[in-house]
Amino acid sequence: MTLSHIISSITTQFLPALHYKYVFKNFKQSDLYRSYNPSVVPDYLQGRPKETILHCLHRQGANNKFVREDIVHVHMENFEVKGKKGSYTVNFGDQSHDPHCTCRDWLTFHLPCKHFFAIFHHFPDWNWEKLPKHYLMPPYLSADSEAIAEYISGTQKSSAEHSINLEDTLQDHPESNYSEIPRKVRYNSFMLSDCFEDGGKVS
Ligand SMILES: [Zn+2]
Repeated sequence: MTLSHIISSITTQFLPALHYKYVFKNFKQSDLYRSYNPSVVPDYLQGRPKETILHCLHRQGANNKFVREDIVHVHMENFEVKGKKGSYTVNFGDQSHDPHCTCRDWLTFHLPCKHFFAIFHHFPDWNWEKLPKHYLMPPYLSADSEAIAEYISGTQKSSAEHSINLEDTLQDHPESNYSEIPRKVRYNSFMLSDCFEDGGKVS
């Protein structure tokens, strides 16, 4: 295989395949692909990546380990949350700074930890919406809306071509057609609780 063949393969097959994978994964994370039982997954988590939803539900489940007296609102976006192993500093961040917590969980995942959820629970004015807009954007807490739009556009284009001439479409554009939009799947609480059993408890 020559160098030009390798470059051609990368640009015409490998990179488009990677791009398609990114687009489709983002579509799968959107609420256009599936929605979750609202009695299990709150509104602010709907349409977010599945891993993010499970992460947050685990931490939210630890709310009963904190009482209001464990939390001190130090100043503005700064809080101190007392846990069994010590106190943790929680900061909601702002337009130019990410939120953060000094616990190991935050340092590992960079996603809201149980200390954030304890604040959400006991200080209703300091909720999910108080997190900076830039932090709520892709890739951590939201699917890429442009990728979702591209997927839908590609699917509609594929459907149109399909209806014009199925045979030509299959021969001329075998790689470029996005698959059909899957039916919406509603995850029920049973399926989510199955995930929790393997995920371990948040201590
Ligand atoms: Zn924390």
